[in-house]
Amino acid sequence: DTLVNQIAAGEVVERPASVVKELVENALDAGATRVDIELEEGGVRLIRIRDDGTGIPADELPLAVSRHATSKIASIEDLEQVGTLGFRGEALPSIASVSRFALSARSRGAPHGARLEVDGGRVGEVAPHPHPEGTTVEVRDLFFNVPARRKFLRAERTELGHIEEWLRSLALARPGVELRISHNGRLGRHYKPLRQGEEQLRRVAEALGEDFTRQCLEVSHAAAGLGLRGWVGLPTAARSSADQQYFYVNGRAVRDRTVAHAVRQAYADVLFHGRHPAFVLFLECDPRLVDVNVHPAKHEVRFREQRLVHEFIYRTLHEALASTRA
Ligand code: ADP
Ligand code: MG
Repeated sequence: DTLVNQIAAGEVVERPASVVKELVENALDAGATRVDIELEEGGVRLIRIRDDGTGIPADELPLAVSRHATSKIASIEDLEQVGTLGFRGEALPSIASVSRFALSARSRGAPHGARLEVDGGRVGEVAPHPHPEGTTVEVRDLFFNVPARRKFLRAERTELGHIEEWLRSLALARPGVELRISHNGRLGRHYKPLRQGEEQLRRVAEALGEDFTRQCLEVSHAAAGLGLRGWVGLPTAARSSADQQYFYVNGRAVRDRTVAHAVRQAYADVLFHGRHPAFVLFLECDPRLVDVNVHPAKHEVRFREQRLVHEFIYRTLHEALASTRA
């Protein structure tokens, strides 16, 4: 099955950032409140992700690294309303087929932990291993056995940049989770968890800087089963660029043309001409109205009612932006 997994890895695992994304999403699905990310050489040499989630029982470790084994959905009906970030059950086997991989964990209440190593797809034996409650995944020497893929990896700085950028987009959506990253032994970004009563804007400032939060407008509107909330940059904002555009559907970061167009249109019609608006927007809708199973990497979605979504976003932003001119 290693070959099948390596082929799947071609779709799921493009670079170290995609590995980090899959592993951190697993940690969040497991209810982690703290995730530590340790990297060496832009993640190519090592990615180690430690979480304080539910952990995995020792006898389920082999299942976790086998293909299409997901503990998250049980039926095709579940797929209609996915509430977790993962659901395809192919990330771990794919990653493990193109790296030197190890999964260590202790489930809640278990007397001790266990570890399972997978070397380029060859699954070892489960062995006892000391571990606090939670899970640690180690991915060493990414693509060591797929030279054709390894060739496409970029400089350490570039790969690290992709990881940091993805983490920023996650940090915006999960202000209650503590996220820490280190690279080559040096502590980098540390997103501290929001405490009770603290505003989400604090995390936004941590992620995007105060240039954004000092000159932004809060948006919050619900109608017709849709909700939109977040912040949009005002034209006076010193920095306003295409790389500060964050959009989430039911908590999942997505890129979508319909959405991008609606936002751009609202800005153009009220205030800006020829500028890239900066924004952080969260759309909430009935999960059955959006298909997240469009691409293995899950950063695209398909709306059942594309027009309605466009209209809703456009109107909400148009109204909010127009009010600043009054
Ligand atoms: P998916 O996330 O689509 O279910 P994955 O291949 O990413 O598939 O993970 C396989 C399974 O391994 C998950 O369904 C989950 O049961 C288990 N798992 C993976 N990572 C963790 C983690 N950090 N904590 C707890 N369980 C995990
Ligand atoms: Mg997953």
